[in-house]
Amino acid sequence: MSVTRGFNFLMTPGPTNIPERILRAMHRPGMEYAGPEFTEFSIACHEDIKALFKTESEVFMYAANGHGAWEAALTNTLSPGDKVLVPETGVFSLTWSQMAKSLGLKSKYLTNDWRHAIDPAEVESHLNDDKDHEIKAVLVVHTDTATGITSDIAAIRKAIDSAGHPALLMVDAIASLICTDFRTDEWGVDVVVAGSQKGLMMPPGMSFTAANTKARQLGESSTLPRSYWDWRTRRGDHHYTWYCGTAPQQGVYGLREAIDMIMEEGLDQAFARHRRLAQMTRAAIEVWAEAGALELNALVDGEKSASVSTILIPEDLDVQQFHTVCRDRFNLSLGNGIGKLTGKAFRIGHMGNVNEPMIIGTIGSVEAGLEICGIPHGKGGAQAAVNALSSELDN
Ligand SMILES: *Cc1c(COP(=O)(O)O)cnc(C)c1O
Repeated sequence: MSVTRGFNFLMTPGPTNIPERILRAMHRPGMEYAGPEFTEFSIACHEDIKALFKTESEVFMYAANGHGAWEAALTNTLSPGDKVLVPETGVFSLTWSQMAKSLGLKSKYLTNDWRHAIDPAEVESHLNDDKDHEIKAVLVVHTDTATGITSDIAAIRKAIDSAGHPALLMVDAIASLICTDFRTDEWGVDVVVAGSQKGLMMPPGMSFTAANTKARQLGESSTLPRSYWDWRTRRGDHHYTWYCGTAPQQGVYGLREAIDMIMEEGLDQAFARHRRLAQMTRAAIEVWAEAGALELNALVDGEKSASVSTILIPEDLDVQQFHTVCRDRFNLSLGNGIGKLTGKAFRIGHMGNVNEPMIIGTIGSVEAGLEICGIPHGKGGAQAAVNALSSELDN
């Protein structure tokens, strides 16, 4: 067994680093599941989390990962045979679409090259063609963690409105919430799906759906079977039903701490920090790319994610060995390429509990890993990141 010292640099795009404060807040003994202490605490948490989504609507909490909240969004609003429109973004549009099909829905998948954000005009034209309004929902992944690309939700809302189409807009904000501005109410997002282990800085195992009145009203008459996920039974006087059973109590205490930490920093400051760390990372990637082997996957400036950078690497180079070197020699965990980028990319997560020294340390270590593995790269990525930071601080 290798002996490690210092921190593990967990720079994967989920799960992410959990702050000590959140770990400590969760370190609690068991407590009465329906006692007044926990009930009041939980109700306040349900109220205060709304600010993170910029919504006045209810946010439902599940003891589940993001996939659970995906299922909740679909089963609460749709009926067997309903059609959904899914613009491709990467791995997560595909798996959400596959889930829809496995639940008995029909999915129209709009293909994309994985290097660009969703084209709102294409969404609009598909909705225009759907004269009978067979499409009941548009499922959009805000930031696809596979590609490191973020789509424009306000523009997609506009496209749906321009087509005069009544379909619900459901957005997966699992990888973007807290990292990139997300305005549920202002943008008219009917259902938002989020998870605990990315920008929220918590352990995996909790997820959320925010649902507006339109979505909840549709849910009153929709007929996909659901029980655990059912919004209709998740409110009421008996707090036990808010979680469809015993609450993940320690998780809720962690969530409270996460909300407090985010509010102390300020949402705008958190978005700015994520943008800054992403810019530093991309400055380094640009330098590495000069040798002709590595390249940022995202091609368009305004679409590059604040949460994660996906770096393409030629297939004949051994990216697995590079991961092993980073992990074993530097205690640095990076993301693998996933989906059709398996073996052809690596990913640097810069989401959640991350700061500038962690990014500079990561970039320097990545460069050392590239050197050890003989992967051609331009030199001076860390300096480029420092320069990007300095020019940011001058502004
Ligand atoms: C991580 C992630 C998911 C899946 O979340 P799980 O908690 O692993 O189920 C879905 N969508 C996006 C965009 C993600 O980043």
